[in-house]
Amino acid sequence: MSIESVDRFDGPVTLYCDDCKTGLDFPSFKKAVAFKKAQKERKPGWRSSMVNGVWQDFCPKCVAKWASGASIKVEPPSGTGG
Ligand SMILES: [Zn+2]
Repeated sequence: MSIESVDRFDGPVTLYCDDCKTGLDFPSFKKAVAFKKAQKERKPGWRSSMVNGVWQDFCPKCVAKWASGASIKVEPPSGTGG
């Protein structure tokens, strides 16, 4: 999962599909956390998957692509920051 500019815990955030970069807006960070929980229940159709040793998130569109046999084009992480 990618989260932009999370410098507070209750502001609007946008999550991005790690494959096609589709954005999913949430009115607050708490909602984003709820998104992570919802993934486990598969309610929104998004899904997490271990790719190159890192948990990535994918939108329903990309999940559907997998079903049709397409491969994931996620790039490996470019190292860990400080
Ligand atoms: Zn996607």
